Formats: sequence, structure tokens, C-alpha cells
Amino acid sequence: MPVVTLAENGQLAIPDDLLKDLGIKPGDPVLLEKTSGGILLSRHAPPSPGAVQSRLHESINRKNLETPIQFIKGVGPKLAETLGKKGIATVEDALYLLPNRYEDRRQVVPIARLCPGVTSVFSGEVITADVVSTKGGRRFFEVVVRDASGTISFKWFNFNPAFLKKTWKEGRRGIFTGLVSQFGLQREVHHPDAEWLAEGETVASVMARDPVSFGRVVPVYPLTEGLHQKTLRKVMKGVVDQYASCVESALPLEVAGRQGLLPLSDALRRVHFPDSDADPRGLEEGKDPANRTLVFDEFFFLELGLAMKKRGVTLESGIAFTVSHTYTKPLLKLLPFSLTGAQRRVLAEIKEDMMAPHPMHRLVQGDVGCGKTLVALMAALVAVENGYQVAIMAPTEILAEQHYLNIHRWCDELGVSVTLVTSSLKGKAKKDALERVAGGEAQIVIGTHAVIQDKVEFHRLGLGIVDEQHRFGVLQRGLLRKKGENPDILVMTATPIPRTLAMTVFGDLSLSVIDELPPGRTPIETRICFESRRKQVYGIIRDEVTKGHQAYVIYPLVEESEKSDLKAATQMAEHLANDIFPELRLGILHGRMKPEEKEAVMRSFKAREIDILVATTVIEVGIDVPNATVMVIEHAERFGLSQLHQLRGRVGRGSEKSRCILMAGERLSEDAEKRLRVMESTTDGFRIAEADLEIRGPGDFLGTRQAGIPDFRVANILRDGRILEEARQEAFAVAEVDPELRLPRHDKLRTELARRWGGRLELAGIA
Ligand code: ADP
Ligand code: MG
Repeated sequence: MPVVTLAENGQLAIPDDLLKDLGIKPGDPVLLEKTSGGILLSRHAPPSPGAVQSRLHESINRKNLETPIQFIKGVGPKLAETLGKKGIATVEDALYLLPNRYEDRRQVVPIARLCPGVTSVFSGEVITADVVSTKGGRRFFEVVVRDASGTISFKWFNFNPAFLKKTWKEGRRGIFTGLVSQFGLQREVHHPDAEWLAEGETVASVMARDPVSFGRVVPVYPLTEGLHQKTLRKVMKGVVDQYASCVESALPLEVAGRQGLLPLSDALRRVHFPDSDADPRGLEEGKDPANRTLVFDEFFFLELGLAMKKRGVTLESGIAFTVSHTYTKPLLKLLPFSLTGAQRRVLAEIKEDMMAPHPMHRLVQGDVGCGKTLVALMAALVAVENGYQVAIMAPTEILAEQHYLNIHRWCDELGVSVTLVTSSLKGKAKKDALERVAGGEAQIVIGTHAVIQDKVEFHRLGLGIVDEQHRFGVLQRGLLRKKGENPDILVMTATPIPRTLAMTVFGDLSLSVIDELPPGRTPIETRICFESRRKQVYGIIRDEVTKGHQAYVIYPLVEESEKSDLKAATQMAEHLANDIFPELRLGILHGRMKPEEKEAVMRSFKAREIDILVATTVIEVGIDVPNATVMVIEHAERFGLSQLHQLRGRVGRGSEKSRCILMAGERLSEDAEKRLRVMESTTDGFRIAEADLEIRGPGDFLGTRQAGIPDFRVANILRDGRILEEARQEAFAVAEVDPELRLPRHDKLRTELARRWGGRLELAGIA
């Protein structure tokens, strides 16, 4: 038995005979690969003829998948255009246009056995067909059909009588498909599909003639206008039969095996045209192994990309800060309160990252009012203690200004210099500010996206902090990084992102959660009010102000109609000031005001010189006035839930009981009311976010496209959360073993990853 020995010089000596067994000659290139049990040594073989062959095969398959859809049999220019509008330009796009439900057409059911609630296929003869008028004045077209077992009635409510009469002739025989419903004792089908039998033809022969639509579980595709289910189904059958086999799985075999996945091509075939033994409900609900395979595949590549990005960052060298407490200790002494446990824990996580010799890339998530600003300031002071500059970037001028006011107040006492850089800074003031930044006198720089513009140069940027991350894309984060040499990056968000979504959107960041509010806050009471109760609402405002508190009245500002909304807001402010609260002091705040004006208004509101602040949503994030105890939100139904939650977080910041009143239009839809009721029922940001996500879908929820995350083709992030977690684990494990996907067995993986992520993996050095 040959033995591998470790020489004194630290080299590993491998005897010749062992090398021979491995097929390695001295001088051959070898590969070292980390495995769970140690290191794997293997020969780095030149590609075999077989491998060359299979590469060729792969590239032919790829070319095939890129075939334009108009080359498919049955797709004319018009259909190609309609499909194009649905985002289907190639064969591959078509393969990933999945049915959203199925019809079980495996059997022809006797009419007597038709079950309400089930879409079924049955056959029969037309007995009667005519327009029926009810006593109530409604008109519909009714057909009665009979087979040997019984009768059933068909109904049309929007119809062209001449056309229907011509088609539905007494005595005509056909095969019908439709959803059976039951009204009292009567079973009926609305707007059924019909396939007519010619003279002498049998049901069996017609069904045999169209094996795509009968005798099987039939897919129902999401339709675009001007596209018939039957036409699309035929096209899809052609596409699937001819091209599904070109789709190759790129997942490592052991992953596919462990996860019980089907080959990708089989999964595609199965979701489009299920086998005769398939369970259509299972497919609809995404529970079939075919669904799992497609979803896993999609998530795996997403997560692998994120893993690469994350590794890419952690492998770089960065600043190793030391924690000297020069400023942080004194700050804690200055504060009139002590940090919450959650703040302390998150701060420790941040400090650990900052001390490590790699760039920090951390997301701090915490509900409104949990005290993120302070955590950010503490981190900033650590960087300042080390002689570095800090940039704090906020999404709006008013927020940047508020951060500036807050932070600058503490920093003045500590002797740390703070500079504000926003795009409204002009002339000499701007020049001076930029000089202070470039010269390094500005230790903490606070601003809007103006901070990442070309003209701004830092002397020595060590830490970048991005507040309210969801407003910024990955791109901006990247630009901020480039302002220094691998600075640490801290991202803060108040949007409570459901875990599954956070994993996709911020999957390349480490996560800290501040899950505790400072003590002494009383929960906010939320109520929906309709116009009819407006007087009472004004009464509540007056009562609160009489008690010495302050109030917000918020107007929505929708981009398309910004001007008219602005007018509505200003008019309302005037109305409130002149007619409703002539004895109270009103202020107005909106996005069109100059920053100085806005700041002046905010300042007077904070100084209690204004009782009621009428504002558009510029107030949305971060504004902090603990004495404000009422918020009235006009047209509440126009806001997203997460946005309402953010707005509401402006009250309930002190120890007094606070209220939020959601004014709703009288013609509130049922859905809209359901949404608003969520706000009444909870103040838990996570639950609200989940409800919001469910209602709006992930794309809208965070603007994922802007965040640089590819759209999902098959996955449903709410339904498939479990699969996401599994895919993430597998993907991160691959990245752990082979951080740059250099191993020959990961060739396919690497190509596929680059293809799916396009140019978005630069950071990871992979594409
Ligand atoms: P957000 O996380 O929404 O950005 P802020 O940082 O604006 O919250 O903090 C909200 C308020 O809570 C501020 O007035 C801040 O001074 C205060 N605060 C922060 N930390 C604490 C604490 N540990 N104890 C009491 N009040 C705190
Ligand atoms: Mg904040």
C-alpha cells in the first residue's frame, strides 16, 4: 500500500505508483479541489473527443432554442406578433410559457354523472336552442343537450343570436367541454367549447383526430387577446415535441439526484402535456415533481449568482478597522437613553465585520422607529476613529437633511465634522463642501444620490451607509463602493422584507435584524374612516392639538398626476387653514418646495410652531417628531400597504397614545377594503409586508427589476419558499467548494450561470 508522506519542508510527497494509478505522470497538470473530507487531487485532462462532441451538441441545442417563434409550424406573422407582445420571441420563451391550469379531458363523462365545479368533456345531441327572456327582463341564449344518460343546459349571456342559432342546430351532435355549475336542481355550462361530429362520425373517431385536445389532461395557457386556446395549444404541442429535448440540465448531477429532480426536458414536457396518469390539481398547485424541477432550477441559478457575488466581495481584501471607542463611548454617554438589546446585538455584528480584513456587505433591517440611525452613527464613528471618512446616502433631500440635523447635533459635541451634499447645493457652498470632502476635513458626509456623482471625490472613504435601500438599485451601491478602495458597505432598510424575498433581493448581503423597538412606545390605533365621518376626524385632530400634540394630514402624490394632486393638497391645506382650523397653525410640505423651505417647515414642526402639517408623501420615510400623535391619510386606498406602514410610523414615536386614520373613498372596492383592514389589524411590519407581497406580487413590492434580480419565469416566490431555501443551500455549497466555478465538472454550470445573469456578475469576477 503506497503511503503519502508529509516532508519536513511542508511538501506532500506522492509516490510514483500512486500517481500511476491516478493516471498522472510527473509534470502533468493536476487539479486540487476542496471536498468536505479534505482535498481531492485529479488529473487535469485535455478535453476528450467525447467532450468535444458533447460541447458541439450543446451549442446546437442552444441555437435550436433560439429559433424565432415565427419559424414554428402554424405560427404566421400575425400570431408571431401577438406572441411577441407576450414576450415570446423564441422557442425557448415558448417552452417557459407555462399553463396556468389544466382541463381533465381524459374521459368522456355521461351527462348524468357531470359534477358541479369540474370542467369536463361530454357528448350529446342538441335538443333545443333559443333565446330565453326572464320575467326580470334578462335575456340569454339557452341550448339543451342530451345523451343516453340525461340532459344539461348551456347558456350564453353576451351573445350574437344569429351566430349561435346557426351553430347550435337541433339534432346536431358534438363533443362539449366546459365548467359545470349548479343552480338549484339545474346543472348548466356557460359558454362551452364544441367540437362537432359530421354525419356518421363517432365520438371516438373525432377524439382520435385531435389527440392534442382530447383524451388527455389539456393545458390552458394564459391568453392574450386575439389568441385562441386551441391554436396556442397546437403551437405549443409542436414546440414541446420538437424542442423540449434541446433543453439541457446544467445542474450538477449530485444536486439533481439529491433533490429528486427530473431532467429539465422531461419536466417541461410534463407541465405542458401531462402524462395520462398525471394529477392535474397537483400540477396546478405547483406540487408535481415537474414543477419542483423547473422552480428549483430557476432558484438555483439565482442563488448561485448571489453566492458568487457574495464570495466575490468576501474574497477581496478590505479595511480592518480597530475599535478604539474614542468617539463611540462618549456618544453613548451623551444619549439620554441606552441602546436596546437588538441595537447592541446588531452593532456587535457590524463591528465584527468592520474589524475583518474584507469589505463588509451587510443589510440592517428594522421596522420604522427601531433606531437604525443611531446604529449607523455608531458604525460611522468607528470608521472615523480609524481616520476614515464615511458617506451616508439617503433617498430624498429631506431625509438627508434630517439625518444631517440629527447626526450633526451629536457630532458637534464629539468634535466630528459633518458635511451635507445634496443636488440643490449650488455655487460656492457646493464648491466648499466638495473641497472639504476631497480634502478629508469632512469626516462624515451625508447626502442624496448626489454623493455618488462623478464630481464627488473622497479623500479616504472607509464606510458607505445606504439608508432605505429599496429605493436604490444594486448599481448605486456599486458606485458608492467605487468612491473608496473596497470600503465597507452598510445598507439599512425599514421595509420589513419577507425572508424569502430578502434572500433573492439582498441575497448577496449578510443580514442583521433589529427586532425590538425602544421601550415606552404605545401601539398606534388605526381606523378606516369614510367621507361621511370627516367631521369626527377633524374633531379628533382638534382634540389632540388642544392637548398640546401635533398632527399630520397626508396626501398621496402619484407621479403621473403629480401636478393636479399637488393642487389638491395645497387647496386642502388652504381649506383646512381657513374653514376648519382657523385658530390653529398649519404648515404645508411637498416635493416641489425648495430644500430650504422644506427644512424651515420641518424645523418649525419639530419646534412645535406648527400644529398641523399637511404633506404629500415626501414625509414618508424617516421623519421623526415624537410629539405628533395623529396622522390622517387621505385617499388611503391609493397607497401600497408597505408605504402606509412607513407613513404610519411617523406617529407613535413618543410615549403618548397615537392614532392613524385612513380616509377612504365611498366607492372603495372590496379588495381595497380588505387591504386597508390589514392596517387596522396589525402594526407588525412583517405581516403587513407579507400581505402586501401577496397582493401586489414581488416585482411591484420592491421594484426587483431595479434591484438587478432576474425575473422569475416559473417560480412563485410565495408558493415556492421552501424550494428557494433548498436551492439556496445547494447553490451556496457549490460556491463554497468551487468559488469561481473553475472545476471542469462545473463548466456547464459556469456557462449557464453567465448566460442567465447576463452582465450582472461583474462583481463576482465570473462573467
Ligand atoms: P428608524 O429605525 O425608523 O430610522 P430612528 O433611527 O429615526 O428610527 O429612531 C427613532 C427614534 O427613536 C429617534 O427619535 C431616536 O432618537 C430614538 N431612539 C433610537 N434608539 C433609541 C433607544 N435605544 N432608546 C430610546 N429611543 C431611541
Ligand atoms: Mg431611518
